[in-house]
Amino acid sequence: MSEVKVIERTGLSAYRLKKAQRDDLKQLVEVCKEHMDRVDEKKISRAFKLCYLSHEGMTRASGEPYYYHPVEVAKIVAQEINIDDISVIAALLHDTVEDTSVTLADIEYWFGKEVAVIIDGVTKIDGVFKSRDSKQAEAFMKLLLSMAEDIRVVLIKFADRLHNMRTLHHLRREKQLKIANETMELYAPLAHRFGLFSIKNELEDLCFKAIDPTSFKFVARKLKEKRESREKFIDEFMNPVEKQLGEADLNFEIKGRPKHIYSIYKKMQRQQKPFEEIYDLFAIRIILENPHEKEDCWRVYSIITDLYTPIPERFRDFISVPKANGYQSLHTTVITNRGKKVEVQIRTRRMDDIAEKGLAAHWKYKEGDHKGSESLDRFVNWVRDVLDNPRPEAATEFVKEFQLNLYQDEIYVFTPKGELRTLPKGATPIDFAFDIHSEVGERAMAAKVNGKMVPLRQKLVNGDQVDIITSNKINLNVDWIDDVVTHKAKSRIRQFIKQKQRKIAEEGRQAWQKRAEKGKVEVNDQELTKFAKKFKYDTTQSLFFDIGIGAFPVSKLFKEVKKYKSTGRIEETPSESNSASDEEIQETYISAARAVGDGKSLIINGELSNVKYSYANCCNPIPGDDVIGFISRAGDIKIHRAMCNNALHLINTEGERILDVNWAKNIENKFLGAVRVIGEDRVGMINDITDVLSKSLSTNMKSINVNSDSGMFEGIISLYVDGIGHLNRIIKRLERVEGVKGVHRYE
Ligand code: MN
Repeated sequence: MSEVKVIERTGLSAYRLKKAQRDDLKQLVEVCKEHMDRVDEKKISRAFKLCYLSHEGMTRASGEPYYYHPVEVAKIVAQEINIDDISVIAALLHDTVEDTSVTLADIEYWFGKEVAVIIDGVTKIDGVFKSRDSKQAEAFMKLLLSMAEDIRVVLIKFADRLHNMRTLHHLRREKQLKIANETMELYAPLAHRFGLFSIKNELEDLCFKAIDPTSFKFVARKLKEKRESREKFIDEFMNPVEKQLGEADLNFEIKGRPKHIYSIYKKMQRQQKPFEEIYDLFAIRIILENPHEKEDCWRVYSIITDLYTPIPERFRDFISVPKANGYQSLHTTVITNRGKKVEVQIRTRRMDDIAEKGLAAHWKYKEGDHKGSESLDRFVNWVRDVLDNPRPEAATEFVKEFQLNLYQDEIYVFTPKGELRTLPKGATPIDFAFDIHSEVGERAMAAKVNGKMVPLRQKLVNGDQVDIITSNKINLNVDWIDDVVTHKAKSRIRQFIKQKQRKIAEEGRQAWQKRAEKGKVEVNDQELTKFAKKFKYDTTQSLFFDIGIGAFPVSKLFKEVKKYKSTGRIEETPSESNSASDEEIQETYISAARAVGDGKSLIINGELSNVKYSYANCCNPIPGDDVIGFISRAGDIKIHRAMCNNALHLINTEGERILDVNWAKNIENKFLGAVRVIGEDRVGMINDITDVLSKSLSTNMKSINVNSDSGMFEGIISLYVDGIGHLNRIIKRLERVEGVKGVHRYE
């Protein structure tokens, strides 16, 4: 810590490393230069110094100094991923923010925004990895992609895990097993999806070694014994083939490397065969760079079968008839002069790409998210490209372009058991509850997000863990209609509203029947429909609904019916029919339900939808204030504080437009309030005030206006508050700030 603080003043460049660390740095720079064209040595050296200093005194389980780890991770990034030197720098510093006194601001100051964003990402996704169920690699990958603003975040994470796996043997057995299992279930499949094949293979082998060391050693020893003879065999087999391919003007690449240890072992298990049989049955892959796909593949086939005898029943033409997943290739098994069987796979570069990308394509079928899949495919291709033939300019360009907002329309959240759920962006705990089960939705009472109680209507964000607290009775609220985005929740709430509407209409009908009986009139349904039409209702149902909520006086209907009974006709009114749509009727109901929710006064709940109301600018009412509503000529409602001068004037002059309003009990919105602070004009006053607000009261400020004159300080601070209680707490707390003479609510 103290060392780092010293550096803050003198600059990292000036700091002198000791010999041992200088050597480590030199080695890292060499690896970088070997794999990348553009390497900013000065910047890497500064990052190395900060890495070394910030981790000074810390050790790993192996007893080695901690900084070995980030340096090794940086080397893996340079060697295996080799995108750019920015990722190397970020790798060097990937553990600093979480484990040392270095802050993100420090990183940004020394290395710029780009590096800071990556390190922030690595720190954040760390938490996700730690606490979650690792069995859903695919969904998990989407989560990572959506959380990571920059792809390099995920790549560094792989490198980090690879080094941790390489040094796994220093940990206790129990811990080894836990980490190895997690790596096997999560990181290895993810690395595969990303096209990081060699990292994936190494991860799997390291896991295998940790989980089943005996079998691992067995296969490894056997492989070693056979390696030389295998390479010799491939050479012998391919020599005549290569010669003829060259003469036929075919450009090609041969892949015949032995598979990694774990895959050989898996095959032995699956096929219940001894090592020798698996090992001997390997495939040589010939990848053509030529454009005439079909013709050229067949030419190669013809050349090979001229040289070696094919086994007819082992021949497969996946070019004319591709596999369901799009896989294309010619497969043939031939017998060599010495009687050995060899499978040969013939395909073009394009086919080979598809073969490897098949896994990424898998997403496409499954998710139907074309935009996302396209970007992912591009990415996977690109990673493979970079791995196969490093071209740094193309890579850097791509990183810039590939701002990873792949799945921005979706968020990924977890159940309390760690199960992952995909929801549309903007979803709330209510959506989540309905997604789990409609019954959970209907009974949802409250929600805990990441262990903290939150309002049901608070929007969820990526990685949230959501726990719904249910009541034993139905708790569904019609207001929720505005707080949900999923179809499932919406349709269930609408259904509920309809049921309620029916119930109210039924009440309206009963009220009418009572009145009719009392007045001794009788009308049939057909006649009632005519009355409904007369009053511009589409159906009797909607007329009765309005009667039910008190919007239409039952006496008015009675009077009309009475008139009809004596005259025998229903007076026509020039009718423009009441053609409210179903949805409009529902909206009306929602408004009405709010309006009649508590006695006769309008309940305001901080939402500005459906019932059109807004808060007056002259007095900025906040929950807890005594308020009145004023119905404007435009038909919307303005909420004033009852004590507001304008309100007093309105009460006197236009009393009939005044509406009784009350605050709903649980308001979750923030309101704009303001305070005026007066005190001595001293150094640090503003700092102290903002500290109190943000730290001890976690209040967000909108603005602060300061005047100081002849030793006096006056500040007008507008801030977001929950209500009057919150504002009063703020006032009390600000009054205790040193030098403050008075704090008042300000309008
Ligand atoms: Mn690490």
